Amino acid sequence: MDWYQKLGISEKVQKLGEESEARLRERFYKIDRIAEENQLKVLNAFQTNKVSTEHFCGTTGYGYNDSGRDTLEAVYAAAFDAEAALVRPQITCGTHALAVALSANTRPGDEIFSPVGRPYDTLEEVIGIRPSRGSLAEYGITYAQADLKADGSFDYEAIRSRINERTKLVTIQRSRGYASRPSLSVEKIGELISFIRGIKPEVIIMVDNCYGEFVETKEPISVGADMIVGSLIKNPGGGLAPIGGYIAGKKECIENAAVRLTSPGLGREVGASLDVLRSLYQGFFLAPVVTAQAVKGAIFAADIMEHIGFKAYPASDEERCDIIESVEFGTAEGLCAFCEGIQQAAPVDSFLKPVPWDMPGYDDQVIMAAGAFIAGSSIELSCDGPLREPFLAFFQGGLTFWHAKYGILAGVQNLYNASLV
Ligand SMILES: *Cc1c(COP(=O)(O)O)cnc(C)c1O
Repeated sequence: MDWYQKLGISEKVQKLGEESEARLRERFYKIDRIAEENQLKVLNAFQTNKVSTEHFCGTTGYGYNDSGRDTLEAVYAAAFDAEAALVRPQITCGTHALAVALSANTRPGDEIFSPVGRPYDTLEEVIGIRPSRGSLAEYGITYAQADLKADGSFDYEAIRSRINERTKLVTIQRSRGYASRPSLSVEKIGELISFIRGIKPEVIIMVDNCYGEFVETKEPISVGADMIVGSLIKNPGGGLAPIGGYIAGKKECIENAAVRLTSPGLGREVGASLDVLRSLYQGFFLAPVVTAQAVKGAIFAADIMEHIGFKAYPASDEERCDIIESVEFGTAEGLCAFCEGIQQAAPVDSFLKPVPWDMPGYDDQVIMAAGAFIAGSSIELSCDGPLREPFLAFFQGGLTFWHAKYGILAGVQNLYNASLV
């Protein structure tokens, strides 16, 4: 059975896909080796913490003595080379995890410093870069920033000049998020951390690890970060976690985060895990392989889109340290046709057609394509972009490479059908 043909992919587009895959064989081999190492690392964390079926039974109410929850946190800590971790369904999303980590580890009069330019959009309101109700700025915590240089490298001069006696916490974003800067490798983050520690050894260094987990074999704690923070509906949830976020790192930082998340005096002792533990364990177990699938999809998208004449960031042969790919379409029609292909390929809601809408907080209309098992999950295949020049689509996720490949081919087919290539 020729499934691609049955699913509306022409022979020509199917062949483009095969050629891309052939060009990427070497890259895919390397990605598999990274997944292999990460799989063993995670397995070792399960085994050294003696994970057992009893750990899948959740608790209700206050959640005292929740050994499944506590063991899961020990597993995360072990896999991420951390002293401790907070992994909870009560952490609603990545932004919440970051907000807890930041507010828990700063006090009025302190300053937060980003040496890598503007943080992720949602953090602007958490910090108060954009005035917002309840921001850290309202509590007398200030913010400073050094931008990356035009070539994406660190501006060491500016960084040195902006670290002062009030600098309490340094925040480093590993992924490019939805900005045009490159993602940072763990090795580069390590160099930056050494430089900062040379100026102010006691400063707390936090890495926004969203979209970066398991893309490399090392995580930022191993190169000197005090805390890493992320969302369970991205990489570490493996597509199975239905909710949650994590903070891992130094005991002191995690204790601070725990009393902020729950309450002073209660800390990590409360917080029922309800019925989600099995999914969190199983998702973390699968996460190295799921992340590898998403990375392959991103590189495949870059390669095939470049091949038919579009620009992709990062380029197909560039080093990458997160799962995000963006493609420049140049026209609204191109952007929409590609997003429609991603939607057509979804396991859920494939019969819907994405249309641009006026999303709160955005000046331009935004088109979004996703058909996910977990609402809003961005480790599952999704694609979105604002309808403005240069008509960039941000593409990420894919629980299996074959699904990502089909979605990309469906997008390419739409472009051909509408004579946009
Ligand atoms: C997704 C993301 C966040 C926010 O996570 P949400 O779960 O969407 O709140 C923060 N930082 C980066 C780099 C991200 O990719």
